[in-house]
Amino acid sequence: MRQISPSLVSFHSSLSFSFPTFSTNSRFRTLPCFNLQIRAMTSHIVGYPRMGPKRELKFALESFWDGKTSAEELQKVASDLRLSIWKQMSDAGIKYIPSNTFSYYDQVLDTTAMLGAVPSRYGWSGGGEIGFDIYFSMARGNASVPAMEMTKWFDTNYHYIVPELGPDVEFSYASHKAVQEYKEAKTLGVDTVPVLVGPVSYLLLSKPAKGVGKSFSLLALIDKILPVYKEVVAELKAAGASWIQFDEPTLVMDLDSKNLCAFTHAYKELESSVSGLNVLIETYFADIPVEAYNTVTALKGVTAIGFDLVRGSKTLDLIRNGFPSGKYLFAGVVDGRNIWANDLDASLSTLQALEGTVGKDKLVVSTSCSLLHTAVDLVNETKLDKELKSWLAFAAQKLLEVNALAKTLSGLKDEAFFSANAAALASRRSSPRVTNEAVQKAAAALKSYDHRRATNVSARLKSQQRKLNLPVLPTTTIGSFPQTPGLRKVRREYKANIISEEEYVKAIKKEIEEVVKLQEELDIDVLVHGEPERNDMVEYFGEQLSGFAFTVNGWVQSYGSRCVKPPIIYGDVSRPKAITVFWSTLAQSMTKRPMKGMLTGPATILNWSFVRDDQHRSETCYQIALAIKNEVQDLEKAGINVIQIDEAALREGLPLRKSEQAFYLDWAVHSFRITNCEVQDTTQIHTHMCYSNFNDIIHSIIDMDADVITIENSRSDEKLLSVFREGVKYGAGIGPGVYDIHSPRIPSSLEICERINKMVSVLETNFLWINPDCGLKTRKYSEVKPALTNMVRAAKTTRMLLAKC
Ligand code: GLN
Ligand code: ZN
Repeated sequence: MRQISPSLVSFHSSLSFSFPTFSTNSRFRTLPCFNLQIRAMTSHIVGYPRMGPKRELKFALESFWDGKTSAEELQKVASDLRLSIWKQMSDAGIKYIPSNTFSYYDQVLDTTAMLGAVPSRYGWSGGGEIGFDIYFSMARGNASVPAMEMTKWFDTNYHYIVPELGPDVEFSYASHKAVQEYKEAKTLGVDTVPVLVGPVSYLLLSKPAKGVGKSFSLLALIDKILPVYKEVVAELKAAGASWIQFDEPTLVMDLDSKNLCAFTHAYKELESSVSGLNVLIETYFADIPVEAYNTVTALKGVTAIGFDLVRGSKTLDLIRNGFPSGKYLFAGVVDGRNIWANDLDASLSTLQALEGTVGKDKLVVSTSCSLLHTAVDLVNETKLDKELKSWLAFAAQKLLEVNALAKTLSGLKDEAFFSANAAALASRRSSPRVTNEAVQKAAAALKSYDHRRATNVSARLKSQQRKLNLPVLPTTTIGSFPQTPGLRKVRREYKANIISEEEYVKAIKKEIEEVVKLQEELDIDVLVHGEPERNDMVEYFGEQLSGFAFTVNGWVQSYGSRCVKPPIIYGDVSRPKAITVFWSTLAQSMTKRPMKGMLTGPATILNWSFVRDDQHRSETCYQIALAIKNEVQDLEKAGINVIQIDEAALREGLPLRKSEQAFYLDWAVHSFRITNCEVQDTTQIHTHMCYSNFNDIIHSIIDMDADVITIENSRSDEKLLSVFREGVKYGAGIGPGVYDIHSPRIPSSLEICERINKMVSVLETNFLWINPDCGLKTRKYSEVKPALTNMVRAAKTTRMLLAKC
């Protein structure tokens, strides 16, 4: 393995090297110790993207999974990526460089492997190290066993693999990854801070394994997992680590005292094992509640605490009111969740104020959370213009920002860096590209009154039924049909000017014709055009709205090897011209059946983008709502009687802290209503959501006042239906998905009948719709045709049975 040459290490990391309080083993042993009079303020990074600047890990993983490359080849790509990341951080002058933030799939799954907590269905015999076969089987399933459940990591678009635990799990130290990575970095001359998912957050993020009673407390396992953590700590110490970072992000949630006590207990238990080490507890993603703040600042054996100070303005007050003397504060002032350049002057004044509270030598400049949630490197953005680029900072640039702040506090301000930053910020503030006064005014006016359709939903449904004349249990699909390689090629070639607009329209038209014909043959009641012209449900709209920009390589990991490329909303949003009317009316002209106009809703466009940070998110959401409203009006005028406004990501934006949720739901739901408040009663508004965990927000869903809602249902043990079993009344149309489109499996019509029966027992038949869980774009026609055939057959069978009753 290549060694990092000492000459690569910047002057400022040599400064931090000379900082006396930290690590007895120097990071760069070959460096001479500078005896500087200047106090060295230090810098830290919570975590870093693993995919690589050009998604190198994704391609290596997928080729390994396809059997095209060996485990060694995958490992080589992975170690090269780790090396380059460590080197980049060294070069940037970062003092506390994390290790073990790399993962082949997910850091929570890595912890499950570390603890040997493999669910028995994967046939792991126990003992020894967990290899790729078991690891990837847990992540992705194998021919005979499905994958473990995946769920969203807090309010990010990253998904983790949910540990399945119960009283009988035998824990053992089964993955030495953390120690191996620490050693690997050390061999390269980098003394890193190994990062582990903290023991309490690990348990709080787990779920009881199948068959384990609901009354089982996952936290009861703490004393069973701590021995493994102790072994890991002991090995890290033996390998020479002087710091360890435990990520305990659940501390920002609304935890009760029992949960908080688990932290006190766990770290007291670990105290003797960690003695001699500096222990950093890292929290992120929100303000920390006062009770959790009191708990974390009092933890035994803990020498440093990291807080998200971008989202944590109240946390800042808590710190000002008292921070334990002698402990380090890792101040997360550089945003890990966004792509905007930091306001360095503002951060500097926050940090300077904190110096007074925590002591000059106890303040460390850091990121608000792992940089996993931002794009990797602005250098690879060839299509963004210079001005826009100057407003941005991806992970690689954030390293420089953190270090520039740390240097400044050490008395070594890089004036040029700061003035370039101030100039970029000023240009962003005053740029005519950002502000559109008409839009600002129109959006501001929206807040003064509520927007609702004039008639209530039951009256509307009657008018719609008179017009649409649908059977009971009408069938429909969610929007997209399979995106074939041929279709992708057409879009690509059109974008690259290889084919003309005429050829492009001809090809897409042909595709729509086929999709319409297929749906008529299948005898589906409400048709879709199949979305062949769309690459992505947000990008497609963003590309046609003003105020949006797009990156070439701004990928962010979503799960496993999957990444998303969120658009950047930098300015006021408006719709220069109609977006979908051409395709929707074309599709409607091909059939007598109702054709759904297909739009993406404001909260989803917002939540799946990098949103501007110079105004409240609600302002941006209202602006998008106005743009979508114009589109809805145009579709209606053009004769489209059914319009679906997807809100696949409405729940995703829900703040973590309960106290902030009502406000979010209020403006997100209001934005949805704005989009369609002016349509006629006879125009049927659908919405669609891709998740079923509704229990807590069901009243907001009802308040969206859509005529029909289609929802994911089949993957999650039909949790959705339980909401209605518990007595919630829903008087609008509802289509809980009758089969899982995420799996290639073809459901039988009997199985779908059983699902429909379950729905009929809970929901009124008059309101029920029959549809799959989500869009079909990731499936093949060989799967979609038989699955939809069975779905329509099941609907017809149930209709017959109902008619006989
Ligand atoms: N209409 C979209 C589609 O069918 C909805 C996708 C989604 O919910 N994620 O593809
Ligand atoms: Zn969906």
